[in-house]
Amino acid sequence: MARRTDDERLAREEARAQRHRQRLEKHALPCPHCGKNVLDHMTRCPYCGGVLVPAGYTPMDEKKKRKIKTICYAIGTVVAVAIILLILFL
Ligand SMILES: [Zn+2]
Repeated sequence: MARRTDDERLAREEARAQRHRQRLEKHALPCPHCGKNVLDHMTRCPYCGGVLVPAGYTPMDEKKKRKIKTICYAIGTVVAVAIILLILFL
């Protein structure tokens, strides 16, 4: 009885692993640099480090990127100053 349960569990795990492999294979493409399979959303090959350009990917505009960075630094500075002031005066 226990053996049968183990067999069923193993069969379920194998079926789940098979479904997982099928989902991954749907998104696998050969790397143009080394030929190994990589996922279609990757921007860098994990095997050779070559730069990949995913379909439909457009890098963020540099001006917009700088603006977001500046806003994040400003917010970080304000929060850090507020924390320091709270520690000093409470
Ligand atoms: Zn590669």
